[in-house]
Amino acid sequence: MKINSHYSALPAHYLFHDIDLRVQTYLSQHPDTRLLRMGIGDVTRPLPRVIVDAMQRAAEELAHEETFRGYCPENGYEWLRQTIIDHFFLPRGIPFHPDEVFISEGAGSDLGNLSDLFDRDNKVAIMDPTYPAYVDANIMAGREITLLPCLRENNFVPDLPAQPVDIIYLCFPNNPTGAVLTRDQLRLWVEYARRNHSLIIFDAAYEAHISSPDIPHSIYEIEGAREVAIEVHSFSKSAGFTSVRCGYVVVPFETGLQPLWMRRQCTKYNGTAYVSQRAAEATFTPEGQKGIRDNLCYYKNTASLILNGLREIGLEAYGGENAPYIWCRAPHGWNSWTFFDHLLNHCQVVSTPGVGFGRCGEGFVRFSAFANHPSAIEALHRIHAYLGLRP
Ligand SMILES: *Cc1c(COP(=O)(O)O)cnc(C)c1O
Repeated sequence: MKINSHYSALPAHYLFHDIDLRVQTYLSQHPDTRLLRMGIGDVTRPLPRVIVDAMQRAAEELAHEETFRGYCPENGYEWLRQTIIDHFFLPRGIPFHPDEVFISEGAGSDLGNLSDLFDRDNKVAIMDPTYPAYVDANIMAGREITLLPCLRENNFVPDLPAQPVDIIYLCFPNNPTGAVLTRDQLRLWVEYARRNHSLIIFDAAYEAHISSPDIPHSIYEIEGAREVAIEVHSFSKSAGFTSVRCGYVVVPFETGLQPLWMRRQCTKYNGTAYVSQRAAEATFTPEGQKGIRDNLCYYKNTASLILNGLREIGLEAYGGENAPYIWCRAPHGWNSWTFFDHLLNHCQVVSTPGVGFGRCGEGFVRFSAFANHPSAIEALHRIHAYLGLRP
């Protein structure tokens, strides 16, 4: 047996594991601390009742001979694929055939699994800093990766690659920086991909957090994107499904990749849980939509609170307007981990060190707006009291 040697090129620890170690160490020395957790990007609001009811009904169906179900279709039930098209894409003037939509257990696995479709001999471009899954999946496959720096200097929007690349991962609204692309900015990427015969893998996991009217929710809002883009969606950050598990991938026929992805899913994926698919369907009901909007509104208020609070303290902070993340520059020339340690040891606030998302994240930390309001307010008080940058 020979292991996949590319695994040895992966970073040794997962970022959140390192953070956890420092937090556990701190807690073991200060057992009575009330930590304010503003680090991990996981939802905290309960699911709307109508979604839980749908799951209970679906579970109950499985207890009766007449309504019992076995394996679900590998690409998901057509009623869910059609509901997604009718409620998300058609209102934006984007028609799809249900066979172009593939239901999954979430975007995290899709973003890793899509790598299966591509030869090792592809040049891949990935934003830096970035959600770690894109880099890790391509390191595992042994591909050459070009990093696209996202810095203050370019407003955290990457420049087009200087050398031609074959596959480009874009994530907007962005995790971790909270940056978004306007229609004109996204059009540049679609045009680049068309010119260079490249493919864009567009991660739209945070589209529901967009509040500005001029920011595209889908890359297919840009003309010509169907030939050059695959889009990944998740109910995790839009509807609070991080434990329920459901997402979907759009693979337009025009990419030529639809049959390959179907083939891949039929071999390596045996379908998304029925209960999760009914839950996803319920998110599109009027009550489901209202419940989701209320939760998103709660997070959005927390995000504004954190963004404005940090700025009032005198810190440099970005994002937070169309995304649940605030990207905060470390003061005093500290690096990410130093700022993280100061926040942990002196404010009992847990953040995420920006450098954990890539070298260009150095000098920043990420605050998550999935915290509750009282914790966010308290955290800002503590940070202000400790740093005291501005009276
Ligand atoms: C959370 C997240 C996802 C989605 O994860 P799921 O597997 O669907 O829960 C995808 N992309 C980014 C950038 C994320 O932050």
